[in-house]
Formats: sequence, C-alpha cells, structure tokens
Amino acid sequence: MYDNYNRHINYLRISVTDRCNLRCVYCMPAEGVNILSHSDILTFEEILQVSKTAISMGVDKIRITGGEPLVRKGIVDLVEMLAQLPGLNDLSMTTNGVLLSKYARPLKEAGLHRVNISLDTLNEVKYTSITRGGKLSDVLEGIQAAREAGFHPIKINCVVQRSSDEADAGDVAAWCKKQGLEIRFIHEMSLTEGHFSVVEGGSGGDCSSCNRLRLTANGKIMPCLFSGIEYDVRALGAENAIRMAIENKPACGSTNMSGAFYNIGG
Ligand code: SAM
Ligand code: SF4
Repeated sequence: MYDNYNRHINYLRISVTDRCNLRCVYCMPAEGVNILSHSDILTFEEILQVSKTAISMGVDKIRITGGEPLVRKGIVDLVEMLAQLPGLNDLSMTTNGVLLSKYARPLKEAGLHRVNISLDTLNEVKYTSITRGGKLSDVLEGIQAAREAGFHPIKINCVVQRSSDEADAGDVAAWCKKQGLEIRFIHEMSLTEGHFSVVEGGSGGDCSSCNRLRLTANGKIMPCLFSGIEYDVRALGAENAIRMAIENKPACGSTNMSGAFYNIGG
C-alpha cells in the first residue's frame, strides 16, 4: 500500500517482547521497567494474523525485535511460522546477540534470513557498564555462532553518542571490517528528549523514503517511531489498524513520545 505521501509501505518491524536480558543505559531506566502483563502481549497466533494481513496489504519485509527477541519463549517456532508465509521476501531479526550461540543455528534452520547484532564497544568493562551487567564474550560468541550458522551479511548496530568518530565506534568498525561484518551507526536518542535521529550506513531516519510500520509487543501498530500515533490491533482488527496507520503516517516525525525503545523495538 502507498501512504498519503506516495511512500510504498512494505516493511513491518515486530516487537515480540518488552523483556530483555540486558538493561542498556540508553534504552531502559536503571530501576527496571514496568513490564507488560502476559495477557497484554500478543500471542504467536495474533502476531501471525497481523503479519498475514500486513503481507496481504503489501508488506514483504519483516524484522523481529524487542526487548530482546531471543528471550521470548518459543521464538524459533515463531520464526519458522513467519518464514513460511507466502509473499514474505525478507525475514530478519535485531538481537543483542547474548543468546545467539544457542539460537543461531536453530534460527537459520527455521528460515530466518538475516540478523543485526548490537555492539557498541569492544571494551569488556565498558560493555558491562553500558548494558548494566552484560558480558562481551557472550556477544562475540553469538556473532561467531551466527557466522558458523551461515548468516550473511551480518550487520552490527553500533550506538554512538554524537558521531561515528568516537573511539569505541572506531574500534568496532575496524573489527567489523576485519571480520567481514557490516556496521551501521545509530545516534543515541535521549529517552527524556526523544528527538528524531538518523542512522549512518543504513536505512532509517530518512522520512521521505520511510517504508515502515511497527507492531508493538502489546499489539499497537505505530506508523512512526517519532510520533505518538498508534492503532490497537485487538480493538480495531489487524486490517483496520494497519490501514489507519498507513493513512495517518506523518510526513515526518518529530519527537518520540514513548520514552522507551524496549516496547516498540527501536
Ligand atoms: N534487544 C535487541 C538489541 O539490542 O539489538 C533489539 C531491541 S533494541 C531496542 C533495537 C536497537 O535499538 C538496538 O540496536 C539498540 O542499540 C537501539 N537502541 C536502544 N535504545 C536506543 C536509543 N536510546 N537511541 C538509539 N538507539 C537505541
Ligand atoms: Fe535490551 Fe536491546 Fe534495550 Fe539493550 S537495547 S536494553 S539489549 S532491548
């Protein structure tokens, strides 16, 4: 489907959980978050139903995200069901990589096409501090497992405060080059100010060509990360919610109202 600004909407990002095994400083508050209750989270059947409807309306690209998608119980089964949907050309996942050494192969076998893995620094101490407790070696092992499982290309998401010139980003970039991994730099968005930001070396941030819709873990279709507009698939039905989101997708976003990425999936 085309929106009012003649953008072809063909990409759906699905947040499958608001829970996470890390607590990155730029994503979640230190004291933790009010997680959604189990009944608020869409079931696999509901996610599949929304996905099928979205595909029938022109979506051919789906990205699974979170929270951390690999902490959702049964995630490999969900990937397998999504991968079999006719009309879906690209199925990818954004993960912090911590659990990938366990899941990379099953995900590949289930039909996942691509992974993006988040990594902001190669310094163990800094990694633990940014993620409030994560272990760098878990991610590095996860990346290795993704390569061995045959994922290609593997993209690394690297959050930078101001620019990709920062020392940690430079180290990650050099390491990626050596390892044959692609890197994208994401400008850190302040959770309190929530201003719009761009992505270097990847899509995102260019409103005039934005082809995305988002489905939150609790079933809201959001046409734009930087506006508060959302439509509830449970209340409206998937088709209406998607149609209304496309019809009301803003020309350009301004401010992120939610103050959190873990529910909407970044
Ligand atoms: N847990 C997974 C991960 O970290 O890759 C998927 C969800 S996470 C919300 C998706 C992406 O959003 C990650 O690459 C993360 O670095 C990025 N992100 C989270 N908070 C952000 C913020 N305040 N500004 C910019 N990017 C952010
Ligand atoms: Fe978890 Fe990803 Fe947010 Fe970090 S950025 S706290 S890994 S959801």
